[in-house]
Amino acid sequence: MNVTVHGAAREVTGSCYRVETAKTRLLVDCGMFQGSAYNDAKNFREFGFDTKDVDAVAITHTHLDHVGRLPKLVKEGFRKTIYLTKPTKELARIVLADAEKIMEEEFEREYRPKLYERTHMERACELMRGVDYSRWVTVGDLRFRFRDAGHVFGSAFVEVEQRGGARVVFSGDIGNIDVPILRPTAQIGSSDAVFIESTYGDRIHEDERTRMNTLRQAVLTTVKNGGVLIVPAFAVERTQDLLYFMNHLVEEGSMHPVNTYLDSPMAIRVAEVMKHYPEYYDRDALRLVSVGDDFFDFPGLRTTMTKEESKSINEAPKPKIIIAGAGMMNGGRIQHHLIRYLSDRKTTVLIIGYQAEGTLGRKLYNGEKRVRILGESVDVRASIISIGAFSAHGDQRKLVNWIKHGKAPAKRVYCTHGEEHAAVALATRINEELGIPADVPRFEETVAVE
Ligand SMILES: [Zn+2]
Repeated sequence: MNVTVHGAAREVTGSCYRVETAKTRLLVDCGMFQGSAYNDAKNFREFGFDTKDVDAVAITHTHLDHVGRLPKLVKEGFRKTIYLTKPTKELARIVLADAEKIMEEEFEREYRPKLYERTHMERACELMRGVDYSRWVTVGDLRFRFRDAGHVFGSAFVEVEQRGGARVVFSGDIGNIDVPILRPTAQIGSSDAVFIESTYGDRIHEDERTRMNTLRQAVLTTVKNGGVLIVPAFAVERTQDLLYFMNHLVEEGSMHPVNTYLDSPMAIRVAEVMKHYPEYYDRDALRLVSVGDDFFDFPGLRTTMTKEESKSINEAPKPKIIIAGAGMMNGGRIQHHLIRYLSDRKTTVLIIGYQAEGTLGRKLYNGEKRVRILGESVDVRASIISIGAFSAHGDQRKLVNWIKHGKAPAKRVYCTHGEEHAAVALATRINEELGIPADVPRFEETVAVE
């Protein structure tokens, strides 16, 4: 079989693989390019394959860089089935609807062309079919199944087999260790090739204790200074993890309740979906649920659904904590809070997720002292702290161990979904430590798997 990399080659976003045999064509993921204006433009380019010719799509998880081009696929003629896990199906609907809403707003504000219309998004959702982990789905002479990736709720890696032929694994995104609520990443089976993400392929995260201490310290400093703690959070998973940790800190008594605003309608909806699927929880989360502890709620927490409620956060007395999206700060309600509070020395911005090149989040992470937000120039006096251990992605050690502890050694590894330095670092590490040949494919490169 042949595998062509149609996105996330030497960069993090735009995941899309095309698996092809003489009889069957399967797409794994159909994600959006994100971050810079250059990347936005890439979404408008042709797919590089005949969209009507695709027999099925398998989606690893609900992040926009894995599902975001599905409506475009439909716009260009795709009418077959999109397979995903059941929670991913529900979450994808929320994420795609939100993306379409932002496009509509940008169109009305700046006449920016829309990648697709609402009808394409709705049609894509109608084509979705939820399947459980480990259940094989047959499409032509291929079959595939989802296994738990432990990255975000419902996330999967995909094992694809050709009848009487090769076996290939697509990692999707691989979760961090000790992620609350989620079960650990499942063991990888034998394979002729693994396409593995490398977002943090050149880094080692801080340990769990550092993670909790940093969070606790950021809250204590904010309380002591009477300031504002702003946490930009991805609506899927990071926000819920943060609530879970804060619930824990308040309940164990190491943190007094502070006025905390969850200012993300999408995150609130995602938490509701998660409550419907306790069978996807890990043991600790199940135990909490069984004793009636709602870990998405703790004293001091308020959720703000409407714009008016969001604006009222400004009037609330300090100290206060604001959790809002978008996670990379390049849109959403977080921008209004940043305009208001970034130039205040008593403000802390806690970065807990990956910040793509070109985003406002990356600029703050890099220590820029003046940024532009919604046309305004804002001085940065706030302290910007970041902690990789909150990331939804495994670090280099986790990725190497995942390959290493498979049922049988992979014959070959391809590192994707990482900036070039990270992908190359991971490939080198896998090659040196495990003795497995590892490459970093280029955009639209086709690899023969035998
Ligand atoms: Zn992801």
